[in-house]
Amino acid sequence: MNVAELGGAFAAIGEQTWRGRQLAEAIYRQRIVDVEGITTLPKTLRKRLKADGWSVARPRIVQVFTSIDGTERYLIQGCADGLTVETVWMPEGDEGETGDSAETVDEGVTTSQAGRVSLRRATICVSSQVGCAVNCQFCLTAKLGLQRNLSAGEIAGQVVAVLDRQGVEVGKDRVNLVFMGMGEPFLNYDNFIRAVRLLVEEVGLSPQRMTVSTSGIVPGIDRFAEEPQEIRPKLAISLNAPNDEVRNEVMPINRKWPIEAVVDAARKVRLRSKERLTFEYVLLGGVTDQPKHAVEVARLVRRSGLPAKVNLIAWNPGPGIPYSTPSAEAVDVFRRALGAEGVPVYLRRPRGRDIYAACGQLKRTVETTDGDPR
Ligand code: SF4
Repeated sequence: MNVAELGGAFAAIGEQTWRGRQLAEAIYRQRIVDVEGITTLPKTLRKRLKADGWSVARPRIVQVFTSIDGTERYLIQGCADGLTVETVWMPEGDEGETGDSAETVDEGVTTSQAGRVSLRRATICVSSQVGCAVNCQFCLTAKLGLQRNLSAGEIAGQVVAVLDRQGVEVGKDRVNLVFMGMGEPFLNYDNFIRAVRLLVEEVGLSPQRMTVSTSGIVPGIDRFAEEPQEIRPKLAISLNAPNDEVRNEVMPINRKWPIEAVVDAARKVRLRSKERLTFEYVLLGGVTDQPKHAVEVARLVRRSGLPAKVNLIAWNPGPGIPYSTPSAEAVDVFRRALGAEGVPVYLRRPRGRDIYAACGQLKRTVETTDGDPR
């Protein structure tokens, strides 16, 4: 609920509407999780709310996996049922934000005189659905199928839970959000965009530090293009193939909305000054990682006429998925070939591979790659 809705709830019980702002402040900024702890409300009111059954629950982190690279993968339980989703904390990001107008040139973390580590590039990877219906062939989440949509509160609540765990000071620390966890945000559009509003207006995060990635859901991109800039995150298209023929195989959703239709829709998004559209590109060994593919991708980016960059990700392995990770050399050759064509290209560093936290690996796996929860 946002400030206005909370104010309405107070009005409905005969209290002052402005109490809504106090409650929102307590939930989203002070991250208080029980009514009794909200000391900005009078004690008698707190008692009354509690007696009336008001609660300020938020999704709970029920399991934590810690990577040797500092990444943390969380199993997070929503409020409505026992289902869990995954959220990932990358203390130094994965370079995915480089070159899209939000990059930082400073260190990933710096230490203040008081000794507090201040965050510069930390990134939270957020889920929007339990499982996913899109069925990208390289992705472990696809194996779950779609179990349900997350509510707006569950999407925003994931972020608040992680901010709280990491002691993030919104306004002082810089945190990026990527809606690239489990699920396709544009197939849960209403809840996704409502969550973004809560995160911007109530939690205080900047939409210019948020990126939403879509597999190419054209009606979703059309709606997204209509959102006001004050709340609109940046857009990434999960391309992953050089042409429709390969993309049909790797991402069957392409048969419904082929590349040209997706790019057409993306052109309607009015980019901010210096903002770029990102094409995410997973390199699958022998399938999408050949130099000729790089030339095709460059042509595609140029044809789009959009200020765009390409983020390369070497495929992260997952059990039962019949692809291979390209060699470091193949990745480098691809990157250079794309760069030589004049396309801005960045390599995303794999984060948390050992705990199944990297891109395409989110399937609520309860082990790490060596078999032990860390
Ligand atoms: S890559 Fe994203 S859209 Fe595709 S199946 Fe996985 S979670 Fe869904």
